[in-house]
Amino acid sequence: MTPLNSNSPACHLNDDKLREECGIFGICDHPDAAAHTALGLHALQHRGQESTGIVSTTGNQFYSHHGLGRVGDNFSEAKVIDELKGAAAIGHNRYSTTGRPEFRNIQPLFADLSFGGLSIAHNGNLTNAVALRSELVSQGSIFRSTSDTEVIIHLMALSKDADVTDRLVDALRRVEGAYSLVALTRDALIGVRDPHGVRPLVLGLLDGAHILTSETVALDIIGAELLRDIEPGEMVVARNGEVTSYKPFESRAARFCVFEFIYFARPDSLSQGKSVYEARKAIGAELAREAPCNAELVVPVPDSGVPAAIGYAAESDLPFELGIIRNHYIGRTFIEPTDQIRHLGVKLKHNANHHLLENKRIVLVDDSIVRGTTSTKIVEMVRNAGATEVHMRIASPPTTHSCFYGVDTPERDELLAAGMDVAKMADLIGVDSLSFITIGGLYRAMGESGRNPDAPQYCDACFTGDYPISLSDRDGGGLPAQLSLLSENSS
Ligand code: SF4
Repeated sequence: MTPLNSNSPACHLNDDKLREECGIFGICDHPDAAAHTALGLHALQHRGQESTGIVSTTGNQFYSHHGLGRVGDNFSEAKVIDELKGAAAIGHNRYSTTGRPEFRNIQPLFADLSFGGLSIAHNGNLTNAVALRSELVSQGSIFRSTSDTEVIIHLMALSKDADVTDRLVDALRRVEGAYSLVALTRDALIGVRDPHGVRPLVLGLLDGAHILTSETVALDIIGAELLRDIEPGEMVVARNGEVTSYKPFESRAARFCVFEFIYFARPDSLSQGKSVYEARKAIGAELAREAPCNAELVVPVPDSGVPAAIGYAAESDLPFELGIIRNHYIGRTFIEPTDQIRHLGVKLKHNANHHLLENKRIVLVDDSIVRGTTSTKIVEMVRNAGATEVHMRIASPPTTHSCFYGVDTPERDELLAAGMDVAKMADLIGVDSLSFITIGGLYRAMGESGRNPDAPQYCDACFTGDYPISLSDRDGGGLPAQLSLLSENSS
């Protein structure tokens, strides 16, 4: 176990990327609720691959199935789906922040409260969970997981309100942090986004059944229609084919995670009404305007650098070629968290397309640099393939700060850009030149005139250190040792 958002360099960081830590899905009023939830989770697999779970309900009884590994490892048998009875279900994909995922933390969580059964699945991270947990434990609450999400359940259990939605609002008024969550009660599917709307949540419709999920790709896979994004600070309650919307929280400025557009979301998703793919191409085009390069070929670092490289190539009027090929069939055997395997992992995952790169001046385009380990190996690979010059262009500003809002990032001192300037990074990675898109350029690519420093339009804290939500647990310090060991960001 690790302390809250300890960001340990666990096995899933083998490819040197930040990791979205959860995907959520919920559906109600559909006879195949569990099957559709499994399909939705499958489309959200990129948001979490270490564990998965589904809870369903008939109204009288709740059913659950949880497992380590991917959706296909756990929900491919008809028997499993058949046992998840009922017309409503929620599901969750998760990355844990520990090297060894724990079964008891697999979501959705479930509890029997005074009003009946309640299940919750959460994408995000509560930034005052350790302090709240300490308070709840001192009042007698007994936690069964180390997940921050369980804090919400205990706060609901203690709430004096009669109605389940009022209890949830009561609980969420106590928490700080980023959350998009889906909750299942005996007769309702509830969705909530935190007041800043840091993490995504969309509402869809399929044959009269309402769906709440992290990304629109999960609607596409089941043939559902996108109705709209849930708004920051909005709670929706779907019941008997109707959706009721509430705005129970104090209004705050929207600060959606800009990294969803850079890397986390699938490129075939629509987020906040924008195509993620087109946004990435626009970032690449802006990068080309800001940091042109006298190269002969634009090569993406696959797969994450592809849309930005297409935009960069089009704007530069340079040919785009797949000069590096990614092997999509890397088994979990190869993701052990040792330095030696991590080093080997880069070669297992990427290979240079020699005949394209030989005697060429190359500009490599990637979405971000975290520790720089992968970039260094890829540059070495491209040089070994005969490239005469290797330039690198990055479709995000330097990642200088850790995320505390539900994304797995290394500690700050492990982030390459936190400790050195661009020239030193270029030297270390071994490129002839290195440029990152500026923060202003990123906002322009997102259709803004620039970043409004007084009211930034997005959360960009990992690039600016401007955290929109207080980090009470991190800044509070001095927590009892047993409590700091017993809290982990869940999603
Ligand atoms: S800190 Fe970065 S990754 Fe985390 S929510 Fe903000 S923009 Fe997204």
